[in-house]
Amino acid sequence: MTKPSVAIIGAGMAGLTLARRLSATARVTVFDKSRGTGGRLATRRTETTAFDHGAQYFTIRDSRFHTALEPYLEAGQVQAWAAALMRIGADGASERLADRAPRFVGVPAMTALPKALAEGLDLRLGCQILALQKTGDGWHLATKDRTFGPFDRVVATAPAPQTRQLMPFAAADLEALDGVRMNGCFTLMLTLKEGTLPPAEAAQVEHPVISWIAANHGKPDRDTAPALVVHANNRWADQHLEAPLETVRDSMMAACRTLCADFDWDAVLAIDIHRWRYANVETPLGQPFLLDNGLGLAACGDWCVGNRVEAAFLSATALADVMEPQLAKGC
Ligand code: FAD
Repeated sequence: MTKPSVAIIGAGMAGLTLARRLSATARVTVFDKSRGTGGRLATRRTETTAFDHGAQYFTIRDSRFHTALEPYLEAGQVQAWAAALMRIGADGASERLADRAPRFVGVPAMTALPKALAEGLDLRLGCQILALQKTGDGWHLATKDRTFGPFDRVVATAPAPQTRQLMPFAAADLEALDGVRMNGCFTLMLTLKEGTLPPAEAAQVEHPVISWIAANHGKPDRDTAPALVVHANNRWADQHLEAPLETVRDSMMAACRTLCADFDWDAVLAIDIHRWRYANVETPLGQPFLLDNGLGLAACGDWCVGNRVEAAFLSATALADVMEPQLAKGC
């Protein structure tokens, strides 16, 4: 019996988790519009350094997530990041925060984890899916210059608004997707002079413009020049999503200078900025996934249940729990 075919849109934590789970029972193809895997588990490299400019770290609270990550923990591709976590107030005053749960990162870069998860999968990178069409033989996925298919099932793991645009779900599922709210973010990436001490190893910032500052080179096994990652406050980012990047950069730098007045800002050698249109989840779907067996369509991702890397894993795992036995029966 030929195994059913499944197209997964998105090679982030959710898409890769699902692809690995379904590969035993289905012929799985993963599409991503980016040139690499990982989605918001992202790393930007320069000549001298690197920045994890999306997720900063992840927690491993659920035992299933721990089990799935065990091989990568053993191989050292995932390691604990024991940075001293600070809280910086809007007035610049700082205090040490208690560690609530260990923080984990990919090693030597955040993308090490998605790269390892993607091993052996049938990946089509640089393929932005623009439309889905159903014909007598199944689903066909169109990019700007070609069509892939047919597939028996299609699963979207793109952020909710992009999934909403793409997937021809029934009205009730589209309405549920309309209720999901995601926030934008901007990430400043600052290359520092060799030997510069960062303002903090990692700091949650309570400020109208800035929410996070971390020394990327302090993460485990980073053999890179000193580098700071600074995230914007989500609410502020949403208000400035369409603003020119130079304006956003200048506002964020001005806020940084005020917040960390004692830091030598002349040590900044280069500044880059990234706009995340859909970074974090404000209002999740409230159910672990969407699945329409009649249409052969499904969706999962962090936005179903939470706001974190672990939420993306749990959403994909819940969907795999339902789809795996269905696919094993050939449907
Ligand atoms: P994604 O990683 O977004 O994957 C979706 C994929 O779909 C992407 O690769 C995208 O390219 C692809 N795609 C979209 N549309 C299409 C299309 N039409 N065709 C083909 N491909 C498409 N989480 C934490 O746990 N801890 C943190 O510290 C943390 N900090 C964060 C900071 C920032 C700035 C950001 C942006 C996120 C942060 N997160 C954090 C959230 C975390 O990164 C996400 O929860 C998680 O990575 C989501 O995984 P996902 O697979 O659901 O979605």
